Amino acid sequence: MPAVVADLSDTLLTFEYTGQMIDSMNHNLQIIPIPAFKDNYIWLMHNGAQCTVVDPGDAAPVIEALKRLNLILTTILITHHHHDHIGGVTELLEAFPKALVYAPALEQYDFNHIAINETNTIELKDLNIPFTILDLPGHTLGHIAYYSAAHKLLFCGDTLFGAGCGRLFEGTPTQMYHSLQKLAVLPSNTAVYSTHEYTLHNLSFALMFEPHNHKLLNRQKSTQELRGAGIPSLPSTIELELATNPFLRCNNKEIHSALKLTSATEIEIFSKLRELRNHY
Ligand code: ZN
Ligand code: FE
Repeated sequence: MPAVVADLSDTLLTFEYTGQMIDSMNHNLQIIPIPAFKDNYIWLMHNGAQCTVVDPGDAAPVIEALKRLNLILTTILITHHHHDHIGGVTELLEAFPKALVYAPALEQYDFNHIAINETNTIELKDLNIPFTILDLPGHTLGHIAYYSAAHKLLFCGDTLFGAGCGRLFEGTPTQMYHSLQKLAVLPSNTAVYSTHEYTLHNLSFALMFEPHNHKLLNRQKSTQELRGAGIPSLPSTIELELATNPFLRCNNKEIHSALKLTSATEIEIFSKLRELRNHY
């Protein structure tokens, strides 16, 4: 294990999200990031007894957290088929054979799962949280997100990152642009749980196009402080992303001028930013 992972775990396992999601029905509900690989987070929601994990790319750190917190795994949520999001599922199912797995209907999986898309809603029974599903083609064609309107939670996999967005492995810029716009219209206080810690790098990319955006500069400063202390930069909020994420700001005049594309459409701006970010 790289030192940074061991280092983070103590901080992370005491990290408690004390936002709006903790209501009278769920006063014990907590969401914890489990660091995996180089920069993945496996988000774990628990009520002190049962839990759900999102995109478990690796089983070992999840099993370690479950043992430490004395939790039973009841549900696994999958956003898309990439190995760093599903690699731990089979081993977790061996340890917890009754756990339900939800995964995108448009993608193939070799483990037992319930196939879902935007026409479905699911309920995490033990945790008492209903989620609606959003289809978000772009990073992969089947990519989905899990959104709880009641608790203002969004698990968006590799579609929306802190100040950035996922690469276009399967979809077109137009598809990804529309997927991001679906997230942009969610309530501004929705907590955004992305799967990768890319925020600092994304912020320096964003600052090339909006060097005078105060919210962007402030976010860079506060993110440097968090990361310096080994604390995740996530969850973010839709409000913060709208103010600082260039991929949600394709109508911004300053970005258009910086790209020297003053008469381009928003999708053309998005496409150009995504292409530049691929090489940044
Ligand atoms: Zn991915
Ligand atoms: Fe990923």
